[in-house]
Amino acid sequence: MTKKTGLLLKNPMDGSSDGSTEKGNLFILSAPSGAGKTTLCRAVLARYPEIKYSVSSTTRAPRKGEENGKDYFFVTEEKFLSGIHQGKWAEWAKVHDHYYGTDADFIRTLLSQGKDILLDIDVQGTLQILKEFPRSVAIFIMPPSREALETRMTARGTDSPEVIAKRMRNAEEEMTQRDLYRHIIINRDLDEAIAELTHLIESFRRQR
Ligand code: 5GP
Repeated sequence: MTKKTGLLLKNPMDGSSDGSTEKGNLFILSAPSGAGKTTLCRAVLARYPEIKYSVSSTTRAPRKGEENGKDYFFVTEEKFLSGIHQGKWAEWAKVHDHYYGTDADFIRTLLSQGKDILLDIDVQGTLQILKEFPRSVAIFIMPPSREALETRMTARGTDSPEVIAKRMRNAEEEMTQRDLYRHIIINRDLDEAIAELTHLIESFRRQR
């Protein structure tokens, strides 16, 4: 598996590296694909419409039903790489052979306005965001078992067996890194996982 990550963007003018100008909450959700993260993200956004979802940019092709600008910004590799040189990404990583990145301006602007943001990014991206925004709330979603994960990935019907095998290997590696996260939710039952997640988010929103 090839994985590459971005260097942190540091802007000495905005003081964001010590978290001092962040007025909003940054919630990070990570999970191996198939653990139910997309459903959980949607549930959070439906419950709290004022939380802004950070739409990542990616060089992977859209899956059936995905919309440009809503699920992802689908960009060419050339555009993505020039974004790296221009410091456009707050974090970026190469996952499953494709680049993924989070827009730095989007994050900084909304946080300074006191808005809460939800990021759906992988472990490599989370480490970068936590360095720059240490007060972020990082949550890892676990599937109940390896078998459950494989079943869900297959049932989704969007990826070939080769892609699924690659994603399973990646998932196993990601799960070994779950201790980097302060919060772990096991998605045994969707309603319970949603309740746990919204309770967690609610408690952080009340503190701010
Ligand atoms: P998928 O291609 O299945 O939508 O996403 C594959 C993986 O890339 C998931 O683990 C997802 O969380 C992660 N991902 C999506 N957007 C970003 C991003 O902007 N940055 C990073 N580091 N990972 C991302």
